[in-house]
Amino acid sequence: MKVSVVLFTSDLRVHDHPPLRAALAAGDHVVPLFVRDDGIAAAGFAAPNREAFLRDCLADLDAALRARGGRLVLRSGDVADEVRAVAAQARADEVHVAAGESAYARSREERLRTALARDGRRLRVHEAVSTVVPPGAVTPSSGSGHFAVFTPYFRHWSRVRLRDPLPAPRTVRVPAGIDSAPLPPRAGVRGLSAGLPVGGEKAGRRRVSAWLRNGVMAYEDTHDDLPGDATSRLSAHLHFGTVSPTELVHRVREVGGPGAEGFVRQLCWRDFHRQVLAARPETASADYRPRRDRWRGEAPAGEEIRAWQEGRTGFPIVDAAMRQLLHEGWMHNRGRLLTASFLTKTLYVDWRVGARHFLAWLVDGDVANNQLNWQWAAGTGTDTRPNRVLNPVRQALRYDPNGAYVRRWVPELAALDGPSVHEPWKLPPEERAHYDYPDPIVDLAEGRDRFLRARDQRI
Ligand SMILES: Cc1cc2nc3c(=O)[nH]c(=O)nc-3n(C[C@H](O)[C@H](O)[C@H](O)COP(=O)(O)OP(=O)(O)OC[C@H]3O[C@@H](n4cnc5c(N)ncnc54)[C@H](O)[C@@H]3O)c2cc1C
Repeated sequence: MKVSVVLFTSDLRVHDHPPLRAALAAGDHVVPLFVRDDGIAAAGFAAPNREAFLRDCLADLDAALRARGGRLVLRSGDVADEVRAVAAQARADEVHVAAGESAYARSREERLRTALARDGRRLRVHEAVSTVVPPGAVTPSSGSGHFAVFTPYFRHWSRVRLRDPLPAPRTVRVPAGIDSAPLPPRAGVRGLSAGLPVGGEKAGRRRVSAWLRNGVMAYEDTHDDLPGDATSRLSAHLHFGTVSPTELVHRVREVGGPGAEGFVRQLCWRDFHRQVLAARPETASADYRPRRDRWRGEAPAGEEIRAWQEGRTGFPIVDAAMRQLLHEGWMHNRGRLLTASFLTKTLYVDWRVGARHFLAWLVDGDVANNQLNWQWAAGTGTDTRPNRVLNPVRQALRYDPNGAYVRRWVPELAALDGPSVHEPWKLPPEERAHYDYPDPIVDLAEGRDRFLRARDQRI
């Protein structure tokens, strides 16, 4: 009997799963393994919304494996120790795992390789599982080995010939006698967003099908429409790997048209940030391009930070988006952009404060996408116009022209008609007094000037 272990990490699916297919091709038995890794909790990356979604994913993966005659083996502890122990118990020859991009994923790979080698076992790392194009597969002709600007990256990325998607295996045979911890139920997780979606490959594949049927065609025209809510909402599935990004790109390209092209471009942003993080792992917390900022911190900005986090800044569009985050564990991309610009530029607060708050709530919270998008918004990342400041009122009038998004999330203002909901401070005082809603915590022009002065820009 030839046995291999497949270590699942952020690739919790059976369709289009190169490590699982390779393990099945290498022998007759596999151990599908997931380790609840102490290191991730210790790094402060665990958050209730993601924990609940993860539990759904594990239950669904176990069900998919059982339908094929197998099961998921669950362990918790130090990932290298657990994998080594399972491989020894199963007398496996090799362990298959998807490549990761973060510093943590890379050091995990190294620790696994070393631990397994001690027993004469081999680690096989598979590329293009969590990304469409692996980091480093396309590089600029000169410079640092990675693309610092999106547009040329996208041009090169678009020309890469993708591997074909792999079907889910029909049967998965797991050797008897491998211990597994029980799967933890979602019900045990506290502090969840009320509107948190369900995780798992089945839910992810259903969402992809619905999106290809009804959403993607109009994406180019509707992706910025805040009240329309017309994006795919696939981000959490892509983060946990319940949807394969490679298979998704193939299927979207089959649909074709401007909506499909725009959507594929957005998926490329995901790979773009991953190749930046792979090349510069320290940018998970350090500035990609330091600008000599002297950010405002807890003192003197603590009150403003809390108002931003809780959605009571007095700017209805900012507050609506921040409340959506708390309620759903998700926020529309346009909301993420304008709330991040508001915190880092208008309030001139360190992007790490905002990134931490997002990671505490986002079900799709992802080191590469979150930290590098925050830096993009703060102007310390890859934005080619690092000092642009988004005006929240102008953003509101453009992307929520009738105010429906604000009325959905800020019920205190629901009685205000049309775009007047975006500027309650302009109401006559006697009418303003009817609304239990705060005054703006900052003067937009003063906030903008403070930021531009700090960046040494002419005002
Ligand atoms: C400050 C800030 C923080 C962010 N934090 C995260 C995060 O933690 N995790 C995360 O997945 N995305 C993050 N994003 C990117 C983007 O906002 C979300 O991916 C998107 O809103 C998810 O919704 P969707 O799946 O409906 O997106 P769609 O518009 O349907 O896009 C499809 C997919 O493309 C990818 N994508 C879209 N926009 C971006 C982008 N700007 N950068 C990278 N990938 C993108 C995502 O995987 C997304 O699921 C952040 C953006 C900003 C401005």
